[in-house]
Amino acid sequence: MNAEIIAIGSELTSGAKLDTNSQWLSLRLAEIGIPCLYHTTVADDLNANVEVLKLAVGRADLICITGGLGPTLDDLTRHALAGLMDVDLVEHAESMQHLESFFQSRGREMPERNRIQAMFPSGSEPIVNPVGTAPGIWAEVPRGDQPSCFIAAFPGVPSEMRKMFLEQVRPRLPGGATVIRRARINCFGLGESAVEEILGTLTERGSDPEVGITAHEATITLRVNAHGATEEECLKKIESVEGVIRERLGDFVFGAEDEELEDAVIRRLVESDLTFATVEHATAGLLAQRIAHVPDAAECYRGGAVAVISEDSLKQEAESIRSRTNADFVIAIGAEAVTTDGTGRMSSKIPLLLIGPDFERSEIMEWSGNPAITKSKAAKTAIDALRRHLMQSER
Ligand code: ATP
Ligand code: MG
Repeated sequence: MNAEIIAIGSELTSGAKLDTNSQWLSLRLAEIGIPCLYHTTVADDLNANVEVLKLAVGRADLICITGGLGPTLDDLTRHALAGLMDVDLVEHAESMQHLESFFQSRGREMPERNRIQAMFPSGSEPIVNPVGTAPGIWAEVPRGDQPSCFIAAFPGVPSEMRKMFLEQVRPRLPGGATVIRRARINCFGLGESAVEEILGTLTERGSDPEVGITAHEATITLRVNAHGATEEECLKKIESVEGVIRERLGDFVFGAEDEELEDAVIRRLVESDLTFATVEHATAGLLAQRIAHVPDAAECYRGGAVAVISEDSLKQEAESIRSRTNADFVIAIGAEAVTTDGTGRMSSKIPLLLIGPDFERSEIMEWSGNPAITKSKAAKTAIDALRRHLMQSER
């Protein structure tokens, strides 16, 4: 089964308003395995609406429509559907009652125009709107030898559309009764392909749960999607695959969901009552900035400096900030040296020094390729060096 989403409204085609309903619906359909082949946006124009509906019935098995179900003259979705199906609009008694009680409960007289919202193309059925006045419309349009095309029309108001889709339409769709739960596991220190190799068949397409890999500035995120009949079943599957991932990737795993490297480091430092400070050249404050975002940073971060650091003064700068702040650890990042080889490929080297109460470790961080993100990678790598040290000394 594949889908087409039709967003109706001149405010969308005129550019006055952005169509966010189509994005939301596509994401929800993908979750239950229904790919969306087309997004169509059309103005409040009856002929144009019938035209796009005809096209959609010819190329999609499910059509989700949003907008144009209101009581005003420019709301034409029900008329367009009746035109497509070549039927009349007929009154639906229950919907009329729902409308009347909606206005009654608010102590208002129902305007005559609202009656149209209880009129449905003959052969279709209403989708109850528990929030607003406009019910949706569910129709199944025969297509000769092919299976019927399912049509679900929703009001344009995003909150109403979402509730109605989740509660009343999704359960009718194939796969819609499936529960999906997701988890993210974050890693640092390995490339995307290395992670893929270590995880082996876990990341193969079609495995359950699915494990996808995405990378952002050297942070690798494993996205686990589990399908099941119940939430419990999904969580069990996630737990078991997460166990395998953590076992195979070991210390490369630093956190879950939105957790960043600096969150992991600061959590450890605060737990052990340890402090740190930073001094940086190449990253010009990026390191300190990452740390500043962490809510508990003030409990363990003694401060940072941005300085010009010559090749042989990295250690001196690190010692100097340590004696000024009394911190247990110092992360020091030196100056960047960029070189270009014969083929125009750039590579970048940045010295890193980590000093602690009774140790000192230095390395040269090196990257080739896009120099635009080396600074961000350097800041992360520096934080990761401290994280690894803390993990090792915990053992
Ligand atoms: P109403 O009864 O409110 O008139 P309706 O079904 O006629 O409902 P519209 O008039 O098209 O819907 O839109 C109602 C509201 O929903 C407007 O504020 C509009 O900006 C918003 N809206 C409509 N379509 C979309 C969309 N595709 N994406 C985001 N917002 C939308
Ligand atoms: Mg409207």
